[in-house]
Amino acid sequence: MDKVDCVVVGAGVIGLAIARKLAQAGREVIVLEAAEGIGTVTSSRNSEVIHAGIYYKAGSLMARMCVSGKQALYAYCRDHGIPHRNCGKLIVATTPKETEKLQSIRAHAEANGVLDMQTLSGDAARAVEPALNCDAALLSPSTGIIDSHAYMLALRGDAEEGGAAFAFYTPLIRAKASAGKIEVDAGGDAPMTIECDLFVNAAGLGAPAVARSIEGMPIELIPVPYLAKGNYFSCNARAPFSHLIYPVPEPGGLGVHLTLDLAGQARFGPDVEWVDAIDYAVDPARAERFYPAIRRYWPTLPDGALMPSYSGMRPKIVPPAVASQDFLIQSPRDHGVAGLINLFGIESPGLTSSLAIADYVGELAGV
Ligand SMILES: Cc1cc2nc3c(=O)[nH]c(=O)nc-3n(C[C@H](O)[C@H](O)[C@H](O)COP(=O)(O)OP(=O)(O)OC[C@H]3O[C@@H](n4cnc5c(N)ncnc54)[C@H](O)[C@@H]3O)c2cc1C
Repeated sequence: MDKVDCVVVGAGVIGLAIARKLAQAGREVIVLEAAEGIGTVTSSRNSEVIHAGIYYKAGSLMARMCVSGKQALYAYCRDHGIPHRNCGKLIVATTPKETEKLQSIRAHAEANGVLDMQTLSGDAARAVEPALNCDAALLSPSTGIIDSHAYMLALRGDAEEGGAAFAFYTPLIRAKASAGKIEVDAGGDAPMTIECDLFVNAAGLGAPAVARSIEGMPIELIPVPYLAKGNYFSCNARAPFSHLIYPVPEPGGLGVHLTLDLAGQARFGPDVEWVDAIDYAVDPARAERFYPAIRRYWPTLPDGALMPSYSGMRPKIVPPAVASQDFLIQSPRDHGVAGLINLFGIESPGLTSSLAIADYVGELAGV
């Protein structure tokens, strides 16, 4: 049987960052990926925002890794020539009641270590974004946008330079943990059985299923997966904004916000739609809820401007009634299986946090 130090399952942004970390530490790494290439699932169905770390529960993995991951990601982008823009974001209050909430959002951000937030009056916000309807706003200068595909290509390049090998069309079928080693069966065009010392389950939406296929993994520690779809609409009118524009958050989500791609094209969303199965089609009828929400901060959004675009699936590990979740990263300390690391619930801000998550997994793996 072939042997390797580390098997990483999943070549999304998280598996790529971890493979890079392990390979650069001198570990022999093979990445098993069911799809045809890197980053074809959730990592290519997101907003490509470098989040500041404003909203996450203080002390949570999300809060810590978003703030440290953001800094690491900006540095990585600069060092590797990854297209990105530190465009900033405005959180816009459109009523006096919403304005009252801005102070607590700022205090929460500061508790998370986001210390650069600025409170703007309505006039000051309109001085930077004249098309805004706004009572007051918070400016997050450290929010930005990134070309996530260029980023993932660079991570893959680094990993391969460190000696990592990638096997595409190669789904993990099952694994068996015994005597400190993990025996891995992969299928696809070239089925293989490999033995490894470290098995990293970075399968995104498939992570709970991968964990269930590992003989020896305590089933009661595997979270139940749920799906919260996020639908996007593109805009066929020029959106006159240079910052990302977010409303004051509403219960259950961030509200219908405007993000920009690097070409300056606006898109709206994602909303939150709990679903039972993966179906990426965007229902055009959902636009009816987007128009009034957007017009609260952009009153001149023309009729007919919104076009159904794409969607992504948040890999939830809590049901709809639970307000928020954290990343769940399990090591042998948690489940008792030597050499196994599971990553569950890596939803937003997973892209922003990817380098920090890889460092954390590296520490758990002793590299
Ligand atoms: C709507 C939406 C918007 C988002 N916006 C942002 C944002 O603006 N900023 C931000 O920081 N984060 C954002 N995120 C979060 C971010 O996209 C994710 O955290 C990140 O992409 C997760 O990467 P991943 O590698 O864990 O998962 P994935 O990209 O899904 O990769 C997992 C890989 O595992 C593979 N796989 C699954 N099962 C198997 C198997 N059995 N064998 C082999 N391979 C397998 C899959 O094919 C896939 O390639 C957003 C997420 C969503 C859903």
